[in-house]
Amino acid sequence: MKISEILNRQRNYFSSGATKSIATRRKVLIRFRESIKNNESAIIKALKDDFKKPVFESVATEIGVVEKELSLAIKNIWKWQQPKKVNSSILNFPSSDYIYYEPYGVTLIVAPWNYPFQLAIGPMIGAIAAGNTVVVKPSELTPNTSAIISKIIFEVFNPNHVTVVQGDKEVATSLLAERWDYIFFTGSVPVGKIIYKAAAEHLTPVTLELGGKSPCIVDETARIKQAARRIVWGKFVNAGQTCIAPDYILVHTSKKDALLKALSDEITRAFSDNPESSPDFARIINKKNFERLSSMLENVNIYYGGKLTNESLYISPSIVTDVTLEDKIMKEEIFGPLLPVLTYNSKEDVSKIIHSFEKPLSAYVFSRKRSFIKWFNASFSYGGGVINDTLVHFVNDALPFGGVGHSGIGSYHGEESFYTFSHAKSIVKKGTWLDIPVRYAPYEGKIGLLKSFLRWF
Ligand code: NAD
Repeated sequence: MKISEILNRQRNYFSSGATKSIATRRKVLIRFRESIKNNESAIIKALKDDFKKPVFESVATEIGVVEKELSLAIKNIWKWQQPKKVNSSILNFPSSDYIYYEPYGVTLIVAPWNYPFQLAIGPMIGAIAAGNTVVVKPSELTPNTSAIISKIIFEVFNPNHVTVVQGDKEVATSLLAERWDYIFFTGSVPVGKIIYKAAAEHLTPVTLELGGKSPCIVDETARIKQAARRIVWGKFVNAGQTCIAPDYILVHTSKKDALLKALSDEITRAFSDNPESSPDFARIINKKNFERLSSMLENVNIYYGGKLTNESLYISPSIVTDVTLEDKIMKEEIFGPLLPVLTYNSKEDVSKIIHSFEKPLSAYVFSRKRSFIKWFNASFSYGGGVINDTLVHFVNDALPFGGVGHSGIGSYHGEESFYTFSHAKSIVKKGTWLDIPVRYAPYEGKIGLLKSFLRWF
């Protein structure tokens, strides 16, 4: 079916009011959760076939995340949808004031490959809960996962309500040529700019979930062994192909040697001497990214790892030292299992390095010094972060997840997803039993009264 036809049908479906009933939305979300549960082993297999994603990671970071989001929406949809009563202004006396949440209409979700299930389904939950229709385009780089997403969605939904369009950049371009009521994109900064421009043509609101170089600071007071364990976990889960993975480490010079040793010990403990044979370490998604990452290892000092296996797209968990900001590895988001460790001596060093990049999606600080943590939080702007751990801000659905500046626009997760896909409509309900005449012309003699009003309230 032509894209314009899909869109027309969804627009008619939306206009018919079919997505309005909260009970129906809730029912379909329950069916969605059921179907995901029933297809769990197929999803795990697809992720394994696409890039050897470990089973534990598929359950924890793809299926589990989505099921949790679904359960939250199913439980709270009635509450979220309720109009919120806000304080009314005395200037409007007598009135009662409300915010109503209404769906935008026909929405487009474009997803990346790195968490291909979660990042396609996650935003859909908010969109459906809020009463929109959805066209989702999963990534072309994970064909097995995209196929199972498609199967589940066609099983659960009327395609006039929710449907999948598979394809690459050409298909994405055709989708963007249409007029949408909302576009939710997760992916790279350059494609984010393309999406933003296309949306601007129609003044379509967007959420852009992008990436960046997320720093990880380890100061002289950090518990080094614990920091190393938490960094290795956050960096090498999904073979480093995580938008919020620590991109590079800035360690206080006095702790460099201790941290390097602890990091390498931890990699060995987690993935053995030969991570290539570990069932718990994923592969690089494709040849293009394999080559991009391999080239980052040229002319740098490899402290640990550095093994590349072309045929299976394996890159070992690797630690790189003595890099400068001019090296390729520091010129772009790494998005793979390479961890550069840089050193600093003063806060000024930290500032200079972090400020040399665009605002990142995340930042992590390992420290037991309150003043340092306070200084860090006050000094840098980034999407979100964690003190003394990595990635875990992602798991709390009470925290909006998203970037700032070049790392993104808008946020979602939990309740925030519902509001992301809803227009907040402000309504003043005015009483008819009183009509204070001050605002009506003629204005003569009323300005003093007006000023007093404005001063008091
Ligand atoms: P990508 O931007 O290459 O692709 C994302 C999606 O955009 C895919 O569906 C792709 O088909 C589509 N696309 C590609 N070219 C397009 C074009 N010219 N016009 C329209 N659509 C196009 O990103 P990727 O390689 O799949 O993912 C990696 C990037 O995503 C990294 O930068 C990472 O940091 C970021 N990311 C961000 C988050 C987040 O939540 N903020 C999560 C995961 C990944």
